[in-house]
Amino acid sequence: MNSGSAPVDRQYRGRLAPSPTGYLHLGHARTFWTAQERARANGGTLVLRNEDIDSTRFKLEFVSQMIEDLHWFGFECQEGPDCGGPFAPYHQSGRFHLYRAALEKLRHGGFIYPCTCSRKDVRQAASAPNLGEDNEPIYPGTCRNKETSALNLQPSTRFNWRFRVPDGTTISFTDGNLGPQQFVAGGHFGDFVVWRHDDVPAYQLACVVDDAAMQIAEAVRGADLLVSTARQILLYRALGLNPPAFFHCPLMCDKTGERLAKRYDALSLRTLRASGKTPESLRQECF
Ligand code: GLU
Repeated sequence: MNSGSAPVDRQYRGRLAPSPTGYLHLGHARTFWTAQERARANGGTLVLRNEDIDSTRFKLEFVSQMIEDLHWFGFECQEGPDCGGPFAPYHQSGRFHLYRAALEKLRHGGFIYPCTCSRKDVRQAASAPNLGEDNEPIYPGTCRNKETSALNLQPSTRFNWRFRVPDGTTISFTDGNLGPQQFVAGGHFGDFVVWRHDDVPAYQLACVVDDAAMQIAEAVRGADLLVSTARQILLYRALGLNPPAFFHCPLMCDKTGERLAKRYDALSLRTLRASGKTPESLRQECF
């Protein structure tokens, strides 16, 4: 299966899609800068999408601070929560009806199944050898082939909707930055959650629905999401939507090789700004 990597032959629309779960750090800024440069080089539009679906993890104050940090660093988006645009709203918490419609479509198509396993159940059943390419445990399939009636779902039952991946199918795409990529469904990743038991869509589903609805031509993001791209290509296919092209950026590491994300506070744009750094000097450090 090969999809998701056609050269960008439509009007270029790129996006920045931060989750307001903490302060933006230098690693985000570097990936976003690449996204902005690519939009500019292609005479395109840059969209800012606030990925605030997970109210258990995000804090409202982070949203305005995120937007302020982006402006300070030098980002200029043509569409977004602060400036509007033809695909509003640009905050995911206002787009649940679209995600729900996609969930229904997946359900009618038989692509998903209810799963009553907790994260702990999955972790315990899928120990070390069953970790996927991105260290997510591969779902052991406990609920996969159960009749829904056997799950005895009550209104109070906590269950996730899980996507049934086509085991053994290779998902191939050519990344605009990292070249040809191949991931095997059921090997590099397993059945994944598209809707959580607390009635929140998973990142994979919301991202696919929005990138398609907002007519994103190329998704620029961190290389930690390469396997998610394979998952998302399966969702595009199931929903009958066209995937964008993909451009994954290497993650920023410190001198010891540790990912910057882990040293969040010291390298947040806020802290760097307070210490007197300028956006220009930070851009030089990044690239
Ligand atoms: N909100 C996601 C994140 O911050 C976006 C990932 C993406 O660009 O698709 O990781």
